[in-house]
Amino acid sequence: MTAAPWDITLLAVDAAVAGSAMALRAAAALPEAKQMVLAPGEASPEAPEGGRALHVKAHKGRFLRPCPATRHYRCCGYQIVHIGENCPMDCSYCILRAYFRDRTLTAFANTGDMFEELGRTFGRDRSRLFRVGTGQFADSLALEPITGHTREILGFLKGFDNVVLELKSKTADLSWLEADPRPDRVLPAWSLNAPEIVAGQERGTASLEARLAAARTCVAAGFRVCLHFDPVCFFPGWEAGYAAVVDMIFDHLRPADIAYMSLGSFRCLPELPGRLAAEGRELPLYMLGEFTLGADGKKRLVRPLRVRQFRFMAGRLARHGFTRGLYFCMESDEVWREVLGRTARDLGGLSAHLLDAARNRGGAPSCSWTTPKP
Ligand code: SF4
Repeated sequence: MTAAPWDITLLAVDAAVAGSAMALRAAAALPEAKQMVLAPGEASPEAPEGGRALHVKAHKGRFLRPCPATRHYRCCGYQIVHIGENCPMDCSYCILRAYFRDRTLTAFANTGDMFEELGRTFGRDRSRLFRVGTGQFADSLALEPITGHTREILGFLKGFDNVVLELKSKTADLSWLEADPRPDRVLPAWSLNAPEIVAGQERGTASLEARLAAARTCVAAGFRVCLHFDPVCFFPGWEAGYAAVVDMIFDHLRPADIAYMSLGSFRCLPELPGRLAAEGRELPLYMLGEFTLGADGKKRLVRPLRVRQFRFMAGRLARHGFTRGLYFCMESDEVWREVLGRTARDLGGLSAHLLDAARNRGGAPSCSWTTPKP
């Protein structure tokens, strides 16, 4: 196991899971942290020395849930395996700020319950296909060297040919490879952004170089990878920034190494700027553009600017030969049509399209697009 990262100074474990494999792994990985077992109903105290707490507990609700998308935009049909909550990195735009009010990291140690539920769902009809991921309420891999969560899941999923697992991260952690997962059923995925955004807004994340080097290692091991530009931000100099990162991708990967790639414009709850101000953070320039309130109640860049950015990115990707597998996260048919000349429905529905791309090298030929509008 690699050295435990992050500023975790307290490991609090609920008594109910104190003997679990995960709790024991976390205790071994955090020898410097204060360690305690919480009695039923006892709250986790503040972490000492201004650090973070990792709370290892049992999850009582459902583990598999649909992504919290909205019916107003095209959703990709991803299902979340709920492994924990919150993230030790600190991106100014992170939606988790809206979900969680404090910095406590949570990991769910009752993996037996999780596997029982997942086994029932995935095993009921083996012809039903699933595309699932763990990177929605947490970064998929940020705590992996501590919890070993993903390695447990990968071991369990070896028995399910009908499930593809996407691991989305901004770290360069590859310790999950120790589980020897099936390369055709696991999609390691990285979120990318313009170098200016990574440097100024993504505290604690791995460098772009490190993320892409990790992606290349996975490709060498037989995996395909996914890449996500979310949020695409509108800031002075965005064209040069996004051109640079797109070019950088193809210094590390070939188009065929990428199962699919998403673009999602910056969107946030209207209160996010106020929250950042309350933390004493300067408002990032990308939050000062021309925004409108979307049908989902979130602020988003006005449509002509979103389309302009997406066309630019699609054109740059096409110059490198990446002409299939691009999709938009939470966008309308109008935006799809204006950028790619077709809608998700034309692809047979986004969910089915991505499932196909996830399972089949090369994806479906009908999914390709060729000439983005200038
Ligand atoms: S890495 Fe992802 S989950 Fe973590 S703070 Fe950044 S946006 Fe949020």
